[in-house]
Amino acid sequence: MKTLCDYSKKDIEKHHKKIAALVNDPKYICEKCARAANDKKALCKPNKIKDE
Ligand SMILES: [Zn+2]
Repeated sequence: MKTLCDYSKKDIEKHHKKIAALVNDPKYICEKCARAANDKKALCKPNKIKDE
């Protein structure tokens, strides 16, 4: 799966609905790119935002 980190600005415009569904309840943050996502698979270097 393509990670959010891979999306260019153009891709983000094109897939904003899909992306919105991936980031509406973020649990992970990418340590490399500072992007957040619900699913760690959507990030290249995910780290939990909160410890559970
Ligand atoms: Zn990343």
